[in-house]
Amino acid sequence: MPFSDFPLAEPLLRAVSHYPDPTRIQSEAIPVILDGREVLATAQTGSGKTTAFVLPLLQRWFVDAQRVTRNRPLNALILVPTRELAAQVRSVVQECSAHLAERPKIVSAVGGVSINPQMMALRGGADFVVATPGRLLDLVSKNALSLSGVKSLVLDEADRLLDLGFAEELTQILELLPDRRQNLLFSATFPKKVEALAREWLREPISIRVDDEPENTPDISQRAIRVDQDKRTPLLRHLIEHEDWKRVLVFVGSQYTADHVAMKLRRNGIRSWAFHGDLGQGARSEALEDFKNSHFKVMVATDLAARGLDIEQLPVVVNYDLPRSPDDYTHRIGRTGRAGESGDAVSFVTAENEAHFRLIEKRNDFRLAREEIAGFETSEVAEAKPASAGTGGIKGRRKSKKDKLREAAARKAAE
Ligand code: AMP
Repeated sequence: MPFSDFPLAEPLLRAVSHYPDPTRIQSEAIPVILDGREVLATAQTGSGKTTAFVLPLLQRWFVDAQRVTRNRPLNALILVPTRELAAQVRSVVQECSAHLAERPKIVSAVGGVSINPQMMALRGGADFVVATPGRLLDLVSKNALSLSGVKSLVLDEADRLLDLGFAEELTQILELLPDRRQNLLFSATFPKKVEALAREWLREPISIRVDDEPENTPDISQRAIRVDQDKRTPLLRHLIEHEDWKRVLVFVGSQYTADHVAMKLRRNGIRSWAFHGDLGQGARSEALEDFKNSHFKVMVATDLAARGLDIEQLPVVVNYDLPRSPDDYTHRIGRTGRAGESGDAVSFVTAENEAHFRLIEKRNDFRLAREEIAGFETSEVAEAKPASAGTGGIKGRRKSKKDKLREAAARKAAE
């Protein structure tokens, strides 16, 4: 079914005319959102989900006569977990509305930057607000906006919102919204927390699952390379040079390692930059833009970059340090192989983390042969622990105090 079969205004159709056809999530979600139904969708970033909710919301805004009143009610509130995702969603709203004679007013309400320009921007109301939860509540407490007239609420990456510990803020926000509204919930995975949220807040939602459709399965080859812990940076350099990697996203476990590895690579003539929550908002946006525009080759990032980021033509993702959880593994490798391209996801497996990697494999139902690269043969012997023994790094059902602290820190970094 082509886009033109949807009852969308011509300027909106024109905005997506460069796409050959709607993606699966778009085909399924656009008609039901236009009908005013609630949606519970499982869709990965990269499946075209943003356009899937933005187009019908714009259509509904477009036909809504209320938009001409002076103090317009907020048409759509889009809650996202990170600033980067907010910027991406905002740009999709802008792109999709580019041909409308009258454009909607879109305001980003995200943390990490001064609140004053956002307060100014909200004067006279807004049509679309893309927000991270904490900053949205700050703005509400300063009477910069009211949520009582919101017509549609989107929870984008609901699993990540809850992972980052936004549950309390979400509840507060949901209480401030009018009862009569349309709820649209998008989530890459459906842990119990998301299910509970959906059960409590959604009214007879239409469930859409597109993640296991074969044509939506990204073409990602996974590799596990055995290496000694202290040889990982030289191996990374070797692979970048000998396998001619054009652009690489390298995941590490800490901000310190991100800075350190990026610096080491730079010293060896490989253009690299670190990306983590300790950088100011300006530096983060700039690094991301420069990476997207190929101004440098390697971005060494913490899990801040694991979800939501949409970087076209990213052929390789490397797990220099393994992710903590099997879910994070899925999100990290999902940064490559996007929009129909193929990608490589390479994990460095050391004697120390072999058991942890086995647990990631087991939980995600795959098993990779371990490669060794000539010149980097391992000297350390992996302990033959059973996969279930893990390393203590995998998230358990009950959160430890440390997990809670980590969650709070991640949330602070994300907002
Ligand atoms: P998402 O993060 O799920 O919103 O997906 C965004 C990616 O999907 C971007 O690279 C878009 O250019 C791409 N995309 C969105 N709609 C389509 C479409 N109909 N056909 C092909 N690619 C699309």
